[in-house]
Formats: sequence, C-alpha cells, structure tokens
Amino acid sequence: MKNITVLGSTGSIGINTLEVIQHHPDKFRAFALTANSNVAQMTEQCIKYKPEFAVMADEQSATSLANAIKQDAPDVKVLSGTDALCEVASHIEVDQVMAAIVGAAGLLPTLAAAQKGKRILLANKESLVMSGRIFMDTVSQNNAELLPIDSEHNAIFQSMPMNFANGLDQVGVDKILLTASGGPFRTTPLDELVNMTPEQACKHPNWVMGRKISVDSATMMNKGLEVIEACWLFHSSPDIIDVVIHPQSVIHSLVSYIDGSVLAQLGNPDMRTPIAYGMSWPDRIESGVKRLDLFDIASLYFEAPDEARFPCLKLAKEAMQAGGTNGAILNAANEVAVSKFLNQQIRFTDIAKVIEQVLEIMTAKEADSLENILEDDQLARQCASEVIRKLAA
Ligand code: NAD
Ligand code: MG
Repeated sequence: MKNITVLGSTGSIGINTLEVIQHHPDKFRAFALTANSNVAQMTEQCIKYKPEFAVMADEQSATSLANAIKQDAPDVKVLSGTDALCEVASHIEVDQVMAAIVGAAGLLPTLAAAQKGKRILLANKESLVMSGRIFMDTVSQNNAELLPIDSEHNAIFQSMPMNFANGLDQVGVDKILLTASGGPFRTTPLDELVNMTPEQACKHPNWVMGRKISVDSATMMNKGLEVIEACWLFHSSPDIIDVVIHPQSVIHSLVSYIDGSVLAQLGNPDMRTPIAYGMSWPDRIESGVKRLDLFDIASLYFEAPDEARFPCLKLAKEAMQAGGTNGAILNAANEVAVSKFLNQQIRFTDIAKVIEQVLEIMTAKEADSLENILEDDQLARQCASEVIRKLAA
C-alpha cells in the first residue's frame, strides 16, 4: 500500500488524482489532503477518503473544517499553514506526494518532499520555473524520485531512454518537440485579443483546468513555463526544444533522435493517464481513461507558433536563457498579471506587457539560494503591482 499526500486536493489535478486512488484501493491510500480555503469540498473529501491529515491554508478555514467533519470523520487531524503543508509532504509514512498546488505557494511543500526523498508527482511547474537548480539538486542529493505529471513532460519522459540523466547527447536525443494546443485564441483575429474576457480565456478547447493555468494556456505562458520545466527535468538546453502547435492534443509531445527516429506518446487528453503513470511507474495501472480511437481522429494537425500572437512564449525563453532568478521574476509577474486579469482589472493583452516591463525593471540575482529566489519573487510581485497601477493611470 502506497500512502499519498495530495497537495491541492480540491483542484483539477487533485480531483483527478483522487479518482485514480479510488480506482485502486488495494494499492494507494490518500494519507493527507490539502487545500487553500474550499472548506465545503474538503469536507466531502475528508468524509469520503478518511485521510490521516487535512491541511487548510489558513487557521479560520481549518477551524471550519474541523467543525464540519467532527461527526463523520472525527479521526482526521486538521492543521493549517505552510509548516503543516511541509509536514504532511515530508511525513515519514508518506511514499508519494502529488504536488498540485497552483503557483509559487507550491514551492516549499514540494521541496520538503524532495528533502525527505519522496516520490514527487510534479504538476506544480511553477516550483521548477522558480528554483530549477536548487530543486533538481535537492531531488538528486536525497534520492527522491521525480515523475513529471504535466502531460507534455510525462510524454517526453515516456519517450526517453531510462538513462537520459547521463546527458541528452549521450543518449542520441537531438530535439524535444513540445506540443501545445494553441489555447482558445489560436485563430482569434489579433486586433480582438485586447477584448477577450476571463470567461473566454478559461474556455480551453481540450482540457478542463484551474483558472490560472487556463489563462496561461490562452497567453501561451503555459508553454513558456513548460519550456523552462523541460530544460530542468531533462537537463536540456532551450535551443533543442521546439514548440509545435497541435490543436487536437492527442500527441502529448515527442522526442527526436539522431538516427531519424521520433518517439511520441499519444492518448485522449485526460490527466488521469499521466497521473496513473506517475503513481505506478515503472508499472502501469488502469486509469479510467477512454482508449484512443485513431479511426475516430483520422488525421493529426500541426503548425508553428506565432510569437507576435503569443509574446509570453518568447519572454519565458529569454528568462531561461538569462538564468539566475529571472525564472522566479517571470513567474511572479505572471501570477500577479493573471490574477488582475481574472479580476477584470487589466486587459488580456496587458498580461505580456506587465511581465515584459517587470523583467526589464528588475535586476536578477544568482538563483543559488532559496532566500534570493523568495526575495525576488516578492520584489517582482511588488514591481508588477506598480506597473499595473501605472497602466491604469
Ligand atoms: P486548480 O486551481 O484547479 O487547483 C489548485 C489547488 O491548489 C487547489 O486545491 C487549491 O485549494 C490549492 N491552492 C491554491 N492556492 C493555494 C495556496 N496559497 N496555498 C495552499 N493551497 C493552495 O489548479 P490545477 O489546474 O489543478 O493546477 C495545479 C497545478 O498543476 C498548477 O501548477 C498547474 O500548472 C499544474 N498543471 C495542471 C494541469 C491541469 O490539467 N489542470 C495540467 C498540467 C499541470
Ligand atoms: Mg502541460
């Protein structure tokens, strides 16, 4: 029996993870569940899964949760705050940690799991974008296992030889082809992008996801973050990563080799596939996902990304090339801009402008300490708020 801590259990990835766990009660158990403030949903999850621990971000939500479950799930220990998140991510009884908190809030608990050598099922790409080098070093120094859950990185992992960590040139890889759906605005006339609403941006053609990553998909910052994520996960240079627009999201990414072979992973767009793979690797288990019907699909389409339409993609690649805390700055500016857009305080096309200005204004530091990274995360948030105030004036 594998004990799993699900960080962000009330989110889109968290819910899919619980579905896979529910499919295999003989193999997996939800040991700890965590959420930001959704007490109603956490109450249901606690009653259904009876975890050892439930953690809410703040004390008030934790008190409400403890009251709500005292009849039906009295044995669940309810905690709150970042220290508690780190505690349940690194608990001695935990085998696997699903890192599915959205944004920078996921960094410390995910690192705590790495420090204790857990198997990390990594959905929270922001933690790698912020602290790639420290994160990867912590994983290797503590013999943690890092299984990518982001569908593209899971596909790349499945298409790589086991010993890819020796270096991509050692194993004959010449390109990583990272697929992207192009999001909801792939064909929207350029002059209409400025008027796109949060509701339109969150209507992804193929995936149902949280609101932040949905907006990231609409700006293609999501793909930019994923280029950075792939560089760290696969010890790759950004130069050998090509973004390929594939609007159907059937091929989840590909690896091209020097002998002309191209290996890919395909499947219906359903996150339970990469989640089940990460949980069971190197074995495979039933995930509940509908099988792919190639006759139904009949043909597959590809096109090159348009950087004029998607400036965030270029900003992310430049931040990776520039190194240091630029990843953390890019990520923080993006989190602030997306949240302001979702609250209808800035326009869709302002998101890229805010990030570009923050990267221009700030001077990045070395990303060799968590202090530097967290400091620049905070400074970039303040800088982004300032830039947005000026935009509005
Ligand atoms: P979501 O918004 O649906 O869920 C986020 C979860 O994090 C919720 O449980 C929420 O309660 C929790 N949370 C939010 N802020 C928090 C805070 N400050 N402290 C503690 N907990 C907090 O998001 P999602 O779509 O499930 O995405 C989660 C992560 O997975 C993101 O990093 C995203 O980029 C990544 N990811 C998601 C998908 C997908 O299909 N949804 C695919 C690939 C990668
Ligand atoms: Mg992805």
